[in-house]
Amino acid sequence: MDKKTTGTLLELAAKSLLSNELAALHALDELPRALFVPLFIPAFLGRHKEILKAMVRVWPFHCLHIGTLSVQGSDCDILEAMIDGLQLHSAQNSSSWGSKLRLLDLRQDPDCKIICSEFGTTFSSCFQSCAYSRNSTLRTEGTQHSVRCPGFDDSESEPHSASETVELLVDLSLDGTLRTWQFVSFLQSKLRQSFGSLHLCCRDLEIFDMSADRSILQFLDPRCISNLQVDLVHLREVNTLVAQTVYLYRLRLSDIHFTCFAGRQLQTFLHCLRNLDSLQELDLSTLYVRNRLHRFLRVLPPQLKTLNLSSCGLSSIDVTILSQSSQATHLSQLNLSHNQIFSTAHGPFQTLLERASGTLQHLQINNCVLTDSILSALLPALSHCSCLRVLSFAFNPITMPMLMSLLQHLKSLMELKYVIYSIPLHCYRDWDVPDGLDQQQLAEVEAQLKAMLQAVQRDDMIWTTCPVKFP
Ligand SMILES: [Zn+2]
Ligand SMILES: [Zn+2]
Repeated sequence: MDKKTTGTLLELAAKSLLSNELAALHALDELPRALFVPLFIPAFLGRHKEILKAMVRVWPFHCLHIGTLSVQGSDCDILEAMIDGLQLHSAQNSSSWGSKLRLLDLRQDPDCKIICSEFGTTFSSCFQSCAYSRNSTLRTEGTQHSVRCPGFDDSESEPHSASETVELLVDLSLDGTLRTWQFVSFLQSKLRQSFGSLHLCCRDLEIFDMSADRSILQFLDPRCISNLQVDLVHLREVNTLVAQTVYLYRLRLSDIHFTCFAGRQLQTFLHCLRNLDSLQELDLSTLYVRNRLHRFLRVLPPQLKTLNLSSCGLSSIDVTILSQSSQATHLSQLNLSHNQIFSTAHGPFQTLLERASGTLQHLQINNCVLTDSILSALLPALSHCSCLRVLSFAFNPITMPMLMSLLQHLKSLMELKYVIYSIPLHCYRDWDVPDGLDQQQLAEVEAQLKAMLQAVQRDDMIWTTCPVKFP
């Protein structure tokens, strides 16, 4: 029997079993190991909550990842059912201890299979296991202060051994909605019931509303966080969180408030940044750093790959400093949009392009008052950015002849696949009228650029635009 036929038979068997939920629940105890994964996938896709919960309870492998299975915002109840199935080693639950599952991964990950391969019967491991799960802290209200203190350790709680701890991997987006609040409350109650045997591992944390779901932070181990996004809070709260991380890969801040550049909070923040040796991606968009970018660059790791400084009030002095920084030769993504960086001189940006030309893959300079003459002066440096894949310069006052000249210069950049260009000036009937864009003119521009791309045999390059007048 070939593999395809076996696969089809397993699918049929799973489908038949799931059609009778009660029978499926009874069959789980006798289900051969090999049938768990083929049954789990349709059970998840069909949102069979009770079956999923029961499957987690008797899961015969070390780990379970939802991997590529899609979870929508309204699917929290599916995740809750699976978490409910976890067999935790607690005082109330000692009789049922014996489940093999030690890691439940509820993150969507396109590279992750449902289970990791196991080597023999004595050694089981998971590629996603957390280094901090072994001494999982008992994070009940009584020990919250241990998380808040800098340099906290786990000495206050009774550590569970590695074999007793169950890891629960979830990405959290604290958005202040009722459903998120319910999910967070559910997680907290599970953690309380587990008496420290459950390690809640959140590696990707987004905080859009600190006030609503703040309590969950007291249950998280900040050392697990590698991607952190924080919006609309005071810098003081960012500092509290970032200071406790140890392996932050990506930090995104937006609409962060702080009193003044001479203030203690900014000093603390810079100190935190200095300690983030693993940081590769930093987003400081909307943080007003005019003429003070040097203070950030001085403390950032030189190997930083992504830097988003859109709407940061940058001056040409800041661009000069950036062009001379050690980061400039490592950057693969740079966003300087919504800054008037060309108002006094374009030389610093030209130097920046020259120094970044060996690594830069993604460049955004939207709405920077980039004119024909400046873009023309930048063309030689731009055409040397051989790694460039995406170039975005929307909402700048550019004319059609300049666009055509640019296309000719960029045609030799074989990695460049996506150009978001500025609608040429002649397509606007009137700048001050909201509906001032002439769609007919724009259609002609699009057709002309398409023909030019065909003529230079670069059909693989997409030139597109957002039909909105720049401010
Ligand atoms: Zn695994
Ligand atoms: Zn962890």
